[in-house]
Amino acid sequence: MSQMQEKTELLALTPEELAELMISLGEPRYRAEQIFTQLHRGISPEEMTNIGKATRERLSAATRYHLPTVRRKLVSEIDGTVKYLFELSDGHSVESVLMRYEHGITICISSQVGCAMGCKFCASTIGGRVRNLSAGELLGQVIAAAKDSGERIGGIVMMGIGEPLDNFDNVVRFLSLVNHEKGVNIGYRHISLSTCGLVDGIDRLAALRLPITLSVSLHAADDETRSAIMPINRRWNVASLLAACRRYYTTTGRRISFEYTLIAGKNDSPEAAKRLALVLNRSLRTRTDTMPIHVNLIPVNEVEETAFRRADRRAVAAFARVLEQNGIRATVRRKLGADINASCGQLRRADIKATQGKQD
Ligand code: SAH
Repeated sequence: MSQMQEKTELLALTPEELAELMISLGEPRYRAEQIFTQLHRGISPEEMTNIGKATRERLSAATRYHLPTVRRKLVSEIDGTVKYLFELSDGHSVESVLMRYEHGITICISSQVGCAMGCKFCASTIGGRVRNLSAGELLGQVIAAAKDSGERIGGIVMMGIGEPLDNFDNVVRFLSLVNHEKGVNIGYRHISLSTCGLVDGIDRLAALRLPITLSVSLHAADDETRSAIMPINRRWNVASLLAACRRYYTTTGRRISFEYTLIAGKNDSPEAAKRLALVLNRSLRTRTDTMPIHVNLIPVNEVEETAFRRADRRAVAAFARVLEQNGIRATVRRKLGADINASCGQLRRADIKATQGKQD
């Protein structure tokens, strides 16, 4: 391992850890807060002109610092969605997307380079997991996008490349950093984490009692269909996943939203909708506690390498209707950035393919 990699990652430090570091470098503790705030605004140590040169040099010698750089940037002409392909310090890249809603700007960030989960419809997992993102790289996406766009980011969804609960410790550290009032200061209630269903991770997360929103990618309510499209279902089936969801709700008091990607001929029939409603009602609700349940319906984004096709508009509307009739709130996800390929993993795939093409 090179010396660079062994150094502490500056962007991953809490103000308290930074204070200890400053003291160990012979600097006063109060410097830490100034540095923390500037770092989280996207100012590099070299640019911190309010801090003496000798201090900056000592800090740079003791730590490593890298903000993701913009390798590609696509702006939707339809809705202003911005998609970034960010390059990390080792040359790997991940995607982040800035989405404009009426209530403000939300960023979708990646949690890993690639993904090990193997969902059959997903572009991010082709090629597997390369590595986890560090806490500083998770945070770096938010800082770099805010700096590049000049906009205030009000919310975060962890729905980009990767499985956040497969990178648990870095994700939890990131959440506390991005929530810090001296830093980016995004409230936990404005943060969602999406998982394909790692039950052990859901339980660990519940124990922390962070008031974030948990999204669960369900995509099918029966084990046969779910196992065929999501290998994780062979480890934790629908029943054990929904039992974990119930525990999450009773521990944290936070409701869970479910993602359901509609794939033509696979999981989009009215019978599948009825079954989904039945399973959710039975697993999550009791006579005395009718937990609110929300399902986001997402017509599958067609990925070149897969054979899955979108459910048609009528099938989507009919599916939503059956859910509503059975007491489950459902919304059809508005597609943002349709003109810039703004869905999971597709820009990184295209970039990898282009690079490979050049090498051939
Ligand atoms: N690993 C996490 C978060 C990343 S994926 C998870 O599985 O939840 C974010 C969401 O996009 C998930 O619901 C995922 O199933 C969905 N998704 C992946 N590929 C898709 C595609 N081609 N079309 C529609 N949704 C997709």
